[in-house]
This record gives sequence, structure tokens and C-alpha cells, in this order.
Amino acid sequence: MHSLWNEMEAAETAGELGLRVYTSRLLGRDDSLVLHGGGNTSLKGLSQNIFGEEIPTLYVKGSGWDLKTIEIAGFSPTCLATLQRMASLDSMSDTEMARELKAALLDPAAPAPSVEAILHAIIPRKFVDHTHADAVVAISNSPGGQQVLEELYAADFLILPYVMPGFILSRQVFEATRQLDWNLLKGIILLHHGVFTFADDARESYENMIACVDRADCYLQERGAGENLRLQAGEFSAADALSLSAIRRQLSTQAGRPMIARLCEEEDCVGYSAREDVADIATRGPLTPDHTLHTKRIPVILERDYSAELEAYVTDYRAWFQRNDSGDLTCLDPAPRVAVWKNRGIVAIAPNAQRAAIVRDIARHTLAAVQWAEAIGVWQAPSEQEIFAVEYWELEQAKLKRLPAPAAFEGRIALVTGAASGIGKVSVQALVEQGCCVIALDINPAVADMSSISVLGMPCDVTESKQVTTALLAGVRRFGGIDILVSNAGAFSPSTEIAALGDEALAAGMQLNFASHASLLRECIPYLKNGCNPAVVLVASKNVPAPGPGAAAYSSAKAALTQLGRVAALELGADGVRVNMLHPNAVYDTAVWTEAVLQQRADSYGLSVEQYKNNNVLRMEVSSADVARAVLALTGDQFLATTGAQIPVDGGNDRVI
Ligand SMILES: [Zn+2]
Repeated sequence: MHSLWNEMEAAETAGELGLRVYTSRLLGRDDSLVLHGGGNTSLKGLSQNIFGEEIPTLYVKGSGWDLKTIEIAGFSPTCLATLQRMASLDSMSDTEMARELKAALLDPAAPAPSVEAILHAIIPRKFVDHTHADAVVAISNSPGGQQVLEELYAADFLILPYVMPGFILSRQVFEATRQLDWNLLKGIILLHHGVFTFADDARESYENMIACVDRADCYLQERGAGENLRLQAGEFSAADALSLSAIRRQLSTQAGRPMIARLCEEEDCVGYSAREDVADIATRGPLTPDHTLHTKRIPVILERDYSAELEAYVTDYRAWFQRNDSGDLTCLDPAPRVAVWKNRGIVAIAPNAQRAAIVRDIARHTLAAVQWAEAIGVWQAPSEQEIFAVEYWELEQAKLKRLPAPAAFEGRIALVTGAASGIGKVSVQALVEQGCCVIALDINPAVADMSSISVLGMPCDVTESKQVTTALLAGVRRFGGIDILVSNAGAFSPSTEIAALGDEALAAGMQLNFASHASLLRECIPYLKNGCNPAVVLVASKNVPAPGPGAAAYSSAKAALTQLGRVAALELGADGVRVNMLHPNAVYDTAVWTEAVLQQRADSYGLSVEQYKNNNVLRMEVSSADVARAVLALTGDQFLATTGAQIPVDGGNDRVI
């Protein structure tokens, strides 16, 4: 591990707070030091109050900020003297502490100070850096770990046994350092937790951290740790995808809400899952108790009978809760958050894609550290009581009660075709805004640019069944299944009277506007049957109930599509899959409506383009957003009792009414 300090970059920063931001970001850049909001840093300086008086101030990382991207506004100014006094109190609950920390803020608009703020305050150095360095924590998670750390660090670090974060940790450090000569120390090592380093100089404090972690890295490397098994993922078949969707359905039931189940097939994940001893080493506990808030204490091992293994996990979780509950706690949902899928990889499980990404990163760091510890001895995590205390920490339980209701589609997964423009694009946006994950397909390669943490955009010609199969497998691997199908890809066939309609044009129209929907639906049915509140929307057309001259190929295909949906509603109803059709009309902000098509259609009714646009009962221009709202309604909770229905989104059409 090397220092990333750069004189030029450092010189460009503004003052000590600027330097504080700079070295915090250097730490944040390395995910073997801190992960997703983990770790914290601080600076002791002066601030001015309204009377012009200078107040000794602790600028400490505020909650909700990540060291990787922190800014000056992410450091909460707090009254240093108040925090130092708090450390001398005999006891205080963490709820009281959180309250007092807020009360000690010198700027009420600043974020809540880190729960480790008091600890920062009692270290008499300007700069304090704190990380949860994998290498140091991994060494401490083995039976001889403490001794090893003492040999490595006794000269310049204070080593303290594990206590949970919060007031008692600050109190532990306060007691342990009362008689201490701080000049002898570069830092403090907290077993099973992490490292604090400090100095009056930003660079020195940061580089104390790097040197400290480098010592642990070297120790591990000298003993052959770090060469963890890596394997390429095997072929992922349709049967595997179906298994994954069944696993996801079961754990969503266990969690009481739809969950994302993201398969991680990186070589380190597959290698770990293929280890003979994985069921043993993976279930001894987390890297640090903090991680349980995302990952729970242990993963589920999926090896033979997945359903029975998931069921056993829940039984064990409830028993663990019963064993450790003091009587007044609320049991969290018992569903696992990490699955080790034998020979396949790791499955990261969470209520949404953002949190699944966090789970994935923690799981990968954990599996590396577990194997390092095994290489130098035996992986041994903190006790189950210590882990329980963090998962059921009073501050976390209080947070649960304040949690806003999840977004309406959180944890659900939609597949949308024709996703790069018009109705498809706006539907993707609307679904994502409601918390949905979306597999977005379009023949236009620009669909890939729509990709984000919640959207997997893939170019796909829906008339090519091979491309569809590949896309479905990728989508299921990424999110765990399919709950919603919005079959929307289509194009208006050129206006031609039947007398002039060629076989090829007819076949092409039927292929895109009917057959491709039918085969996509067929491919999705097994996943939909495993889905959470599964629903299908087929985007048909007003041309079904009210056809127009010159549009035989298009109207016939959409009529066939509608009939397909009616049959599907009958066939899939027993599995709880709803199938409904939308008949949009004259949605001009879509790719279908080119200037030429618009002119042609207007001509065939003997209207001007303008008359044609507002030619509906409500005299309104219908937009993609109107259709997307209907998609949300039909796939959400508002039409749970509706299937086989055809809903016009056309501003009202006197030929249909
Ligand atoms: Zn910490």
C-alpha cells in the first residue's frame, strides 16, 4: 500500500479544512480501507461565533457523507469542549449521545456528527483518520491475531479489544489513554473494527494510516495470504436463471417485500463459492460487526435443496434472535442478504439495487479477508452476542421506526422493450422513479447509455430469439428475476392499401408487431410465474378497436397481439400473473410518429396534421407520459383485480366509445 499524497494537489487545497477534505478523499479512494460511507476523519480548529469569538471546534465527518466524495460541507462543526466533557461521563445511551452530538453542533444546518465524534474529540491531535482497513481487521479475526498485531504494532500503536461503536467505544479509549503519553503513539488499533491514526499534520496522519496498513499487508503477503482462489464463471443456463428467480421469490416472501438478488460472478466470487470448505468458513461471521447492518451475520449456503436451505436459514435466524433478545426488540426480517451459491458465485440481496451494490462490495471484501485469515491460521469473527448488539443497536432500531415507506415499486423488476425512445423510455423513467429496477431493451444501441445502478440497458432486436434469450439471462443475473413485462417495441408499417400490400411487408409487420411480442412473452412466462406481484402490459393500439384504412398490416398485428394478451390472461391467471393491454393513440412524442407518417395518416382521414393531432373527445394531445402513467397503474397495486382488460389511452375516441 502506497501513499497517494501529491504535493501539487495538496497545494491547491484551501486551508486546513481543504487539506482535511483532500486526505479524506485519498483514504476514500481505496476500498480496502473504507467502503460505502465507512470510516471517518476529523480536524480540530477554530470557528467564529456570531459575537466574533473564536470557539475550539471539531470538524468531524457528518453522517450520510462518504470519504470518497466528501466536501467541506460534509464536516460537521461541533463544540470541541462539550464533546471532550461527554467522554468523561460514566455512562450514556447511544440515543442520548446522538441527541447531545446534535446539540453540540455549531451550525444547526450541518449533518449529524459521526457516532465516533467523541472519540475524535479526545485524541489531542489536529488531524484524526479512521478506517476499517481489511488487512488489519482480517489479522485480528484469527485466534492468534491479537498477538500478531502486538508484534507488528506494539511500538507505536495502542491495541484495544473489541467493543461496539458508540459511546462505550469513546469511553474505552478515554479510560485507556488517561495515563498515556500521546507522543509515543501514531495510532490506535481496535480489534475486529479498524484503525485510528493521528498527527498535527494532515499528510503525517494520512501516511501513518498507510504505513500501518502496509505493515499488515506485508505480513499477510509474506505468509502467502492474498492468493485467493479465482475461477471463471461457468455457463449460466436458462435453468440456472429459473433457479435464481425461484430463490429470489422465496427470499422476497421471507423478507415480506420484493428483493433484488444480484448474482456476482466475478472470479473471486466464483472461486470462493467453489471452495470445498466454503460452507464452514463463510458462516463463522462478518469481517466486522458493522457490516451486519447490510449483510446480516452470516450468508446462506445454496448447495443442494435451495428451498430447504433458505427455510433453514430463517429458522436459524429466528432462533438466534430469540437467544439474544433482551425482550424489547423487534425482530428484523429474517431473509438472508448474502447467498454463497455453490460453484456459481455470490448473490447480493437487498431491497433495492443501490443497497445490493453495497452488499456485493462488502461480501467481496469479506470473502478475501476470510481466506487471508485462513491462510495465516483460522478465521474467527467476533462473538454472536457482539454481532447481535450491532445488528440490533438502539440507534438502528430507532432508525427503522422512522423509515419512510418504500417507493411503490421498490424491489420489483421490469423488462421494457422499445426502451430507448417514446413510450418505452418514459415508462422506464417512471418505473425507476418509483423504485423499480429495469431491464431495458431496444434495437437502438443508445439504450446502453440508459444503464445505471437500477437500469440494465441492452441493445436487442426482439425479432431475434437468440438475442432475446441472451438479454433475459443477463437481466435475471443482474436483478434476480422479472416481475413486470412491458412489451412495447413496435413500428408503424408504411401506409398501404391491402390491394398493394406485399407479402414481405405483411410478414415484417406481423413479425415485429405481433410475433416478437408472443415469443418474448413465452420466454418471460417462467420468470413471471416466480415474480412478485407479476404483471404484463402489452402495448397495442387504438387501431385494434378502431382500425384505419391503409394500415392493414399494423392493425392486424396489433389485433393479434391483443388476442394473445386475452389468451395469456386466461392461461396465467392461476399463477397470479395479470395481463392487460393498452391502446394508445396519436402519441406524437414517439419514434413511430415521424413527420411523414403523421402527414400520411392525416391525409387518409382528410384532415390537416394539426386537426389530426387533437382529433379526440377530450381535444387533448396525448403524450408518452400519459401511457407511462397507465403502465404504472396496471403493473402497480391499483389494478390488482384486473386482468385481460383493454384500456384506451387516446383522449377518447368516438368510434370506440
Ligand atoms: Zn469505525
